[in-house]
Amino acid sequence: MTDLSGRVALVTGGTRGIGLATARALAEVGATVVLTGRDESRAKEAAATAGAAAGLVLDVTDAKAVATLVRGVAKEHGKLDIVVANAGIMVDALLGMIKEDLVDTTLSTNVAGTLHTVQAAARAMMRKKTGSIVVLASVVGEYGSAGQTVYAASKAAVANIARSAAKELGRSGIRVNAVAPGVIDTDLTSGLSEEAKAENAGRTPLGRLGTAEDVAKVIRFLVSDEASFVTGQVLGVDGGLVL
Ligand code: NAD
Repeated sequence: MTDLSGRVALVTGGTRGIGLATARALAEVGATVVLTGRDESRAKEAAATAGAAAGLVLDVTDAKAVATLVRGVAKEHGKLDIVVANAGIMVDALLGMIKEDLVDTTLSTNVAGTLHTVQAAARAMMRKKTGSIVVLASVVGEYGSAGQTVYAASKAAVANIARSAAKELGRSGIRVNAVAPGVIDTDLTSGLSEEAKAENAGRTPLGRLGTAEDVAKVIRFLVSDEASFVTGQVLGVDGGLVL
């Protein structure tokens, strides 16, 4: 069984969905977990339900705020072993309907937000020359998807943040990997009609949508010593779905 006793972990966007399930999965095996949310009361409530040590406020689009929070967590707990850059948004739009603010919001949250988090994590982990980072890519970023050009582009970028950062940080003992979930039943996909959900489940070889816990367990594996020689990978958690 994976044991993360004594490890300090940070999960962004941890108030619900995959982030919340990941915070819980890490805390369950002994990690001291700090999760973040954009709203203070929701972050605190989520921390209590996940068994996390703290729930802090963070908007990942704010580079300074990310740097300050990550530094603060590492200082308070003496180190930072695990960072899961999970915060992200998905807004669908056909090519002809894409507006500039959709591009700005998606890229500043998914790409810049992930980048700020990885950068700050690397700085905090560098001192101890050990650490593990996981970022949230997507099956859509690997294959593309009609009506999701902006989101797909952002998630392809996220996958390449993991691949590139892994190359830079390996000699510092820091591993960086991505998970690429398929269609997971969370608030992010709650806009899908029952018909669309059934269609996605039908296209998935394992015959169902994923759960937040399906993804959390794989993230827990990647950040643990079980994956000590795994870095720069983009691991599908998609039930075999190929778009
Ligand atoms: P969700 O909408 O349930 O949760 C997303 C979390 O990110 C929320 O807590 C939200 O508050 C937070 N967030 C959004 N913008 C933020 C910002 N600027 N600063 C800080 N936090 C912010 O979605 P989810 O399904 O749990 O998705 C989690 C991650 O997994 C996302 O990066 C998403 O793109 C990715 N993903 C999800 C699916 C899926 O099918 N659900 C598939 C592939 C990838």
